[in-house]
Amino acid sequence: MIRKTRLFTPGPTPLLPAAQFAMAAADIHHRTPEFRALYTRVLAQLKEFVGTKNDVIILSSGGTGAMEASVSNLTSPGDRVLVLTAGKFGERWSGITKAFGCHVDVVEAPYGSTFTLDQVKAALKLETRAVFVQATESSTGVRHDIEGIAKLLKAENSEALLIVDAITGLGTTHLDMDGWGVDVFIGGSQKAVMIPPGLAYIAISQRAWDRMEATYNPRYYFDLRKERKNAAKGESAYTPSVALIAALGASLDYIAGQAEGNLAEGRKKLVDNAETCAAMTRAAAEAMGLKLFAPKGYEAAAATAILAPEGTDSGVIVKGLKSKFAAIVTDGQGEMKGSLFRIAHIGFFDYMDTIAIIGALEQVAIAAKLPLPNFEFGKGLIAAQKLFAAHAK
Ligand SMILES: *Cc1c(COP(=O)(O)O)cnc(C)c1O
Repeated sequence: MIRKTRLFTPGPTPLLPAAQFAMAAADIHHRTPEFRALYTRVLAQLKEFVGTKNDVIILSSGGTGAMEASVSNLTSPGDRVLVLTAGKFGERWSGITKAFGCHVDVVEAPYGSTFTLDQVKAALKLETRAVFVQATESSTGVRHDIEGIAKLLKAENSEALLIVDAITGLGTTHLDMDGWGVDVFIGGSQKAVMIPPGLAYIAISQRAWDRMEATYNPRYYFDLRKERKNAAKGESAYTPSVALIAALGASLDYIAGQAEGNLAEGRKKLVDNAETCAAMTRAAAEAMGLKLFAPKGYEAAAATAILAPEGTDSGVIVKGLKSKFAAIVTDGQGEMKGSLFRIAHIGFFDYMDTIAIIGALEQVAIAAKLPLPNFEFGKGLIAAQKLFAAHAK
């Protein structure tokens, strides 16, 4: 049969056609009124998308570039910082903060779980200058309790900035930056906003801007204050990724279009969409006899991590989906390689995509003779259908 290649990965995610057209048409110079109009509009839209009154800065880099910028701009060598980690991306925070000379305390929870607020409280010191965490840990499909952590920092009167990698949290999780008092939210282009990799965006609180006046880690390309100054004039400090910025504008228009032009409402619908696709997938996996990796109540809607049955290498499932259906799902990362596979719901996924990947997973389960007692064709699909009928808006 014909096989259409489809991404089911938590970044890069499937591309929005309107954004691809915008990209192809973006033959404009970055020091012109045309670009300034585009950039100013997209920066304003991003605030609505993140859901904040704070300034949002765009960087021409991957998401990791914005993670690094948050460390280089907001810490000084020797600063005591706290990293909360339970997966591959949490470990990245440890790597970056150490590279910039921070004194790093770590709260580490096993892959597939999250840390308790008591653990965070116990690790928080009077001198802690910043707390680094993921909103959703893409490597394990687990959601961390950002609201709880923000409230804890407030209750402790902590001076620590709360710096959140929301690269797969934005657009999949209901987040309230200003209401909770989060200082930094970081997003990436190849995730919920449905465009190719290459742009990062970073929302920054007033408290964090104030902190930057005194910090002195080295920075040059990723100088957030310089970008902010330029952004106020509708420009970026250096040549930006013009095509991706045009694509981002088209994508944010599309998201606003989900709610009659109201971008904040459109973002909520995008989150609801990811949640519905994730709930369908979880229901299907469990009905097939597969086990979920994330604890109940802490499942990320960005991606669902599903454990391979005991004694089965998850690579068999990943390869089966690719070779039979050209569906790209990801294996576990790091220590979870071979144990689980991940199906994404972040961005441009819908009911049809979700039903299709579940149907394909059923085919692979039978063809690869996965040891799933009581499984037969249709069990996963029926569970997903019922979930959709009962919950989808
Ligand atoms: C994708 C991702 C990143 C890294 O983004 P890059 O664009 O690959 O640098 C960081 N954190 C999380 C949680 C992610 O999902």
